[in-house]
Amino acid sequence: MTESRSAPLTLFNSLTRQPEEFRPVHPGEARVYTCGPTVYNYQHIGNMRAYIFADTLGRALSWKGYDLTHIINITDVGHLTSDADAGDDKMEKAASETGKSAWDIAKFYTEAYWRDIERLNIRQPAKWSIATEHVEAMIDFAKSIADKHCYELESGLYFDTSTVPDYGRLARAATDEGESRIDPVEGKRHTTDFAIWRKTPDGETRQMEWDSPWGRGAPGWHLECSVMSKMYLGETFDIHTGGIDHREIHHPNEIAQNQAHSCSADTGANIWMHNNFLVDRGGKMSKSAGEFLTLQLLVDRGVHPLAYRLMCLQAHYRSELEFSWENLLAALTRLKRMVIAVEQLRAQAEPAERCTHPRLREMLAAFDTAISDDLNTPKALTHLDEMLAQKKTDRGEKLAAIGEADVVLGLDLLTLDRSDLRVRPVSAEIAEDEIERQLDLRAEAKANKDFPAADAIRNELSEKGVEIMDGDPLRWEWRIDLS
Ligand code: AMP
Ligand code: ZN
Repeated sequence: MTESRSAPLTLFNSLTRQPEEFRPVHPGEARVYTCGPTVYNYQHIGNMRAYIFADTLGRALSWKGYDLTHIINITDVGHLTSDADAGDDKMEKAASETGKSAWDIAKFYTEAYWRDIERLNIRQPAKWSIATEHVEAMIDFAKSIADKHCYELESGLYFDTSTVPDYGRLARAATDEGESRIDPVEGKRHTTDFAIWRKTPDGETRQMEWDSPWGRGAPGWHLECSVMSKMYLGETFDIHTGGIDHREIHHPNEIAQNQAHSCSADTGANIWMHNNFLVDRGGKMSKSAGEFLTLQLLVDRGVHPLAYRLMCLQAHYRSELEFSWENLLAALTRLKRMVIAVEQLRAQAEPAERCTHPRLREMLAAFDTAISDDLNTPKALTHLDEMLAQKKTDRGEKLAAIGEADVVLGLDLLTLDRSDLRVRPVSAEIAEDEIERQLDLRAEAKANKDFPAADAIRNELSEKGVEIMDGDPLRWEWRIDLS
């Protein structure tokens, strides 16, 4: 660990509802599991907030010198439409609605998700663990806990939540709110009991089904994460992440399985971390309500994906964040300001190998303190602003300091170009080089004091949705209206 990254790392543990100092199970290492997407549809940008958060955590851990192993799973079987034990499998439902096979749907949306991951500068995990490739291991796991912790019903094998200590401690709502969200299944001993194995009803076949000691069927959703996290990270590992909704059902159920498997009170991961939701007043975060907010939609409207990443980093991951186009454009403007400042430095210097300037190192230490304080990215960004504003320092050193901070933030500050951030919706009727050509003609007309001709060009462009931004301090020069 370098000197300026030695601030003690504290992370908020949802289990204890307290910030806790990070003490890895294996000294020098950090093992992290992130609940990944259910690939029956595109991810919305709220989902992507969960992965930006997990990526920032992973980047921070690596930056602070831990040897990171990060696993993200792909749920391509088992997740039911009701988040509990009733309703259809989301994959099977999407298959019957579209006429495609569940396998094709999984492949299509996994690839779409990976495209978004790349565009948001989310680093590749050590492994994408795919649920359907681990069904044998899930059956073995279920066998190991079946006798002591499960019971069989007509519809499959169920986990008896009264057989583990302190069930629902993570949710702190096992007896009220949490339970009321679970749909009743006939014969369940407790409302919180959940499916480990879902038997295919007699006379039916599912597209995704496997043989098991409890009949042909498919694994329950919660099983995959217990099995794959233990397989790749060990019986007890450091951190498990997911969105805040997982704190209520999915993660308490994983913990119950982990405890059953280890025959102890060990919850599996020592720290459980949850990002709060991205909310949208217009209801565009719901996949069931027609058009919803995808990263592609933002890109189609002309906004660079990293503006969305910055928008997320401007809020603490545990705070709810409201989506609006204004917020997104404000983040884009902030990103552009940073990129312009870096571009000016880059025009005059190469980044130094390492920043040694005392004042910049102080700022990096403050940046470290903010990041180490439960990933306080809004505060860390203000220290980055200070670095950018620091006068009378060697430009190469300054670039090196900005580059160091950007390793955690993932905003590509040293490589983005001002023109990459131009707002250019795909629906624009006019091509970019045509705009540039018109602007050159307009500049020429102005130089010749032919103002009527210059105004005519402005009006023509305006009719095509292009707004000319003369004298704009951020040098946008032009933008295409988003509305
Ligand atoms: P899913 O594909 O439904 O399993 O969700 C993928 C991830 O996104 C999970 O970690 C969810 O908890 C998380 N998530 C779902 N909705 C939102 C939202 N609106 N804001 C932030 N995270 C979310
Ligand atoms: Zn999970």
